[in-house]
Amino acid sequence: MSYTIALAGNPNCGKTTLFNALTGASQRVGNWPGVTIDKKVGKIHGTDSELVDLPGIYSMSPYSPEEIVSRNFIIDEKPDALINIVDATNLERNLFLTLQLLDMGTPMVVALNMMDMVEAAGDKIDIDGLSKDLGVPVVPISAAKKIGINDLVNKITEVAESHQKPAPSRFSGTFESAIVAAEGALKGKVPEDSIRFYAIKLLEGDKDVIEKAPQAREQIASAIDAFEKEYDDSADSIIADSRYDRIAEVVGSTVKRAPRDEKGTLSDRIDRIVTNRWLGIPIFIAIIALIYFIAMYDGAWGTSPGAWATGWLNDWFGELGENVAAWCEDNAVEPWLTGLLVDGIIGGVGAVLGFLPQMIVLFLCLVILEEIGYMARVAFVMDRVFRYFGLSGKSFIPLLVGTGCGIPGVMASRTIESESDRRITAMTVTFMPCGAKLPVIAMIAGALFGGSVLVGIYAYVLGICTVILTGVIMKKLKRFAGTPAPFIMELPPYHAPQLFNVAKAVFDRAWAFVKKAGTIILLSAILIWFLCNYDFSLNMVESINDSILKWVGDGLKYLFIPLGWGDNWEFSIASITGLVAKENLIATMGTMFGIEEISDEGEEIWDILATMLGSAGAISFLTFNLLCAPCFAAIGAMHRELGTWKSTGFAVAWQCVIAYLISVIVYVVYGSIVGAQIETISYVLCIINIAVLVYLVWARDPFRQLNKSVEEEVE
Ligand code: GDP
Ligand code: MG
Repeated sequence: MSYTIALAGNPNCGKTTLFNALTGASQRVGNWPGVTIDKKVGKIHGTDSELVDLPGIYSMSPYSPEEIVSRNFIIDEKPDALINIVDATNLERNLFLTLQLLDMGTPMVVALNMMDMVEAAGDKIDIDGLSKDLGVPVVPISAAKKIGINDLVNKITEVAESHQKPAPSRFSGTFESAIVAAEGALKGKVPEDSIRFYAIKLLEGDKDVIEKAPQAREQIASAIDAFEKEYDDSADSIIADSRYDRIAEVVGSTVKRAPRDEKGTLSDRIDRIVTNRWLGIPIFIAIIALIYFIAMYDGAWGTSPGAWATGWLNDWFGELGENVAAWCEDNAVEPWLTGLLVDGIIGGVGAVLGFLPQMIVLFLCLVILEEIGYMARVAFVMDRVFRYFGLSGKSFIPLLVGTGCGIPGVMASRTIESESDRRITAMTVTFMPCGAKLPVIAMIAGALFGGSVLVGIYAYVLGICTVILTGVIMKKLKRFAGTPAPFIMELPPYHAPQLFNVAKAVFDRAWAFVKKAGTIILLSAILIWFLCNYDFSLNMVESINDSILKWVGDGLKYLFIPLGWGDNWEFSIASITGLVAKENLIATMGTMFGIEEISDEGEEIWDILATMLGSAGAISFLTFNLLCAPCFAAIGAMHRELGTWKSTGFAVAWQCVIAYLISVIVYVVYGSIVGAQIETISYVLCIINIAVLVYLVWARDPFRQLNKSVEEEVE
C-alpha cells in the first residue's frame, strides 16, 4: 500500500539525516504554498509510501509560518501517519512538541534519535516504559549510523495500516474539566480526530481556532475563568506548565542518566573555550582567516588550492574565447555573431563561472564546519552582538557565505527558522563585499589610496553596518515584525561530519550557482552586450560612445552628480554593467576609456580615475557599487528566497536607495575632511539623508511590544 507519512521534529534533532536515510536519492524539493519554506518529499526505501518533511519546529502554536505550515499539513492533508523524530539526548525540550502532536489524533510513531550518543554517555532509556507513558510506539534509532531504520519503516507502515491512533494526553483537576468543556463546545465544528488539540488551542486563545468556532470560546468562558483563578495564571502558561510537568514525570520514570563527569562531556569542554565571551570571536576570526587562506590566497606564500583552480578555469575560459574568435575569423562568421559569442556569452558567463572552484572550496569548508556543529556556536557567539540590534545570530552565517558569493549567501539564509529574520537576511546578504567586488575595491584603493588595506577594511565594515542599519529599520515594518527568533541556547553536541550530507550540500550550492550562470547571467550578459554594441537604429557601432548605453548614461549621470561623480557618464554606465557581474565594472571602464587590454585590477585607468573622481568621488563610487543592487544572478537568488517579484523589487529598490543615501553622506563627510570641492546640492542632500536615516532608526517601533511578549513566552 502507499501511504503518506509526515516527518516532524525540532530543528537540529537529525530530521534531515533521517529523511536522507529513509528516502535516499528520491527527493523532490518544492515550496510550501504561500511561503518560502522548503517542502521536501521522497519515497521511503522498500515501500510505496511517500515521506513529507515538515519544517523543524518547537511547538504547534501559530507563531511562525513554519508552525502554520506543519499544522495545516497535518490537519488538512491528513497524512496516514506521522513520524515524530526526537533527540534522545534532549528529551525535555523535544517531548514538548510530541505531546502536542499526540493530541492531533494522527497515527504516530516516535523515532528516538541519537541513541548512539545516549549509549556512549552511558545513559539508559526504558523504551517500553516511554512507549506506554506516551501511548505511541517508540523506536530507538541512530539516523547518522543508520541503526534502527528498518524497524522504524516496519513500525510506521504497521501504524499507518491499522490507523492506530495515539492516546491523547490527559491532565487532571479543573484543567482537564476545562478541556472536556471545550471539547463539548467544539463538537461538530472541528474534525473529531483532533478535537483535543483544538480544545487545548481554544483554551490557549489560539486565533485560528477561535475564528473557526467563535461561539465556542464564549460558551466555555466560565470554565476558563475557573481554572485561571485556581492557578492564578493565564490559560496558556498553565497549559505549558502542565505539559512540562508531565514531561518531567515521563522522563523521570524512564531515563536513567549515568553520573556525569565533573568537567562535562568533551563537547562541553570544547564549548567552554569556543563560546567563551572573550575567546569566541578571536577563535572564529582565526578559523575564517584560515578558510579564506585555503580558498583564495594567492601571494608570497604560494597559491592556495582554490586560487589555483580558479586561475586555471579563468585561463581556460580565456583560451576558449580566443579559440572561438579565431575559428569565427577563419570561417568568416559575421562580426556581430562573433562578438555575441566571445564577448557577450563566453565573457559574461565565464566571468561568473570562473569563481566556481574558489566557491566550491569555500563551501566545502563552511559545510564541514556546519556539519560538525561549529556554525551553531558561531551563531551563538554572534547572537550576543546581533541581538542588541534586534537581529538573530543565525543571520551571520549567510553573511559569511556572502563574502564569498552572494548567491549561496542568499541561499544560506534558508536555514534561519524565523521567516522575518530569513527575509531580512536574504535582502541584506549582498551588502557584504563578495569575491567579485574585491577587484573593484583593489582598483579604487590602488588608484587613489596608495593601495591602502584600509579601503578593504572599510568595505567590510560598511557592509556589516548597512546590514545592521537595514535590520533595525526593517524590524519596524509590519511585514517583518511579530515573528521574533528566540535563540535556542542548547547547542547540539559536536558530530563527525557525514560524508554524504557534506557532498550533497556542497553539490547543491555549487549547482545552484552554475544554474544561475547558465540562465540569468547568460540573458543579462547578452542584453548588456547588445546595449554596448548597438545604436538605436540597430546598427552595430564601432565605439561604445555611439551605443544605446551611452545615451542611457548621459541621462543617468545627473542622478549621480550629488555623489561627486562629476559630469561623467562613464561611471553610471559602469555601475549598470556591474549588474551582470561586479568585476565587469573594470572591463567596462577600460572599454569606455579606450584601453585595449585591461588587467584585473585596472592599473591602466588608475590615473584617469584619480583625475576624474578625486578621492572623495572615488570613495562614494565604491560605496555605491558595494551596496546597490547586486548582480542579476544574486537578484535571482533573492527572488527564490523572497518568493515574489514584488518583494524582490522592494529589496532591490531598498538596496539602491540605501546605497544612494549612504554614498552621498560618505562623499560629503569624507570630502569635507580632505577639503574636496563639494556642490551645494550634495550638502543639502547629505543633511536630508542623515535626517531620514536618524528618523528611521529612532522612530518608535510599533511592534516592539508584540516582539517582546512572544520572546518572553518562548524563554
Ligand atoms: P535537522 O536540523 O533536524 O535537519 O538535523 P540534521 O539532520 O541536520 O542533524 C543535525 C546534526 O546531528 C548533524 O551533524 C547530524 O550529522 C547529526 N546527527 C543526526 N542524527 C544523528 C545520530 O543519530 N547520531 C549522531 N551522533 N549524530 C546525529
Ligand atoms: Mg535539516
